[in-house]
Amino acid sequence: MSDDDLFARLRAYEGRPAGSGGGRDPVNATMIGHWCEVMGEAGPAYTGPDPVAPPAMLQVWIMAGLSGPGSAPGESGDSGVSRRSPAYDELFALLESAGCTAVVATDCEQEYVRLLRPGDVITFDSVIESVSPRKTTKLGTGHFITTRTEIRANGELAGTHRFRILKYAPVADPRPASAERPRPVINRDNAGFWEGVAAHKLLLQRCGECGTLRFPWLPGCGGCGSALWEAVEACGAGTVHSYVVMHHPPHPAFPTPYAVGLIELAEGVRMISNVTGIAPERIRIGMPVELEFVRAYGPADEQELPVFRAGVKT
Ligand code: ZN
Repeated sequence: MSDDDLFARLRAYEGRPAGSGGGRDPVNATMIGHWCEVMGEAGPAYTGPDPVAPPAMLQVWIMAGLSGPGSAPGESGDSGVSRRSPAYDELFALLESAGCTAVVATDCEQEYVRLLRPGDVITFDSVIESVSPRKTTKLGTGHFITTRTEIRANGELAGTHRFRILKYAPVADPRPASAERPRPVINRDNAGFWEGVAAHKLLLQRCGECGTLRFPWLPGCGGCGSALWEAVEACGAGTVHSYVVMHHPPHPAFPTPYAVGLIELAEGVRMISNVTGIAPERIRIGMPVELEFVRAYGPADEQELPVFRAGVKT
């Protein structure tokens, strides 16, 4: 199919429905409170005893939840909640058959028509507003697809949400992946830390004015702003405060799966490092770990890295 033929077929979807449904929950003060806390929104209209929803929450009320449409308790799969239209699925299938397998969201515009208040019952429907001609971007070549969603409260228009994505054929990265693990970037601000590592010491900074410990190394104190500091050695004991197990993307220097831990040191500061000595699926939050230094670049390479070994005695 030529590019022109493809574009003609894609454009035929303009004006067709993209989806429709209802809000998973009515507008409610609990979600307004959580959203304001996360966003740092302190306006009295939103945080007082009888709040309205911040207009920028518009999309929140039509989101389907973590597990997607049809997953909320009591929500039957055929109730029409948050359902994508067959036309939208066809449009995606057509783009994918033309090699546009990747997708990235590019921008969003909203218009607010009326305030939303607790108790408002939300419904919406979306239309495929436009499909752009073929465009070439740094990511690859593809088409921008814009959907326009009208969001209603108790049947009355409350706002519109226009959302644009690029559906594209990704260009392969021409740079060959280096097989070597990236090396630490050592600069004037953190040179003392790496000198410590070379001497098998994990050094933290302690503010010379207020005494606050900090990591990673920085020129100034986040607490009081002072540029005075001294290095103090951590004892090496810590616990797993949080972690992720990496499966993707593959990289020749990082055989997957491997675990990246956020380690809370006994001194109270946290650092990111690898958790070693344990299968990634057995790592648990709160697990004790112990500092060790490894030659991650091979036995003959003097650069060492601090990592944290699990399975130590409690
Ligand atoms: Zn300080």
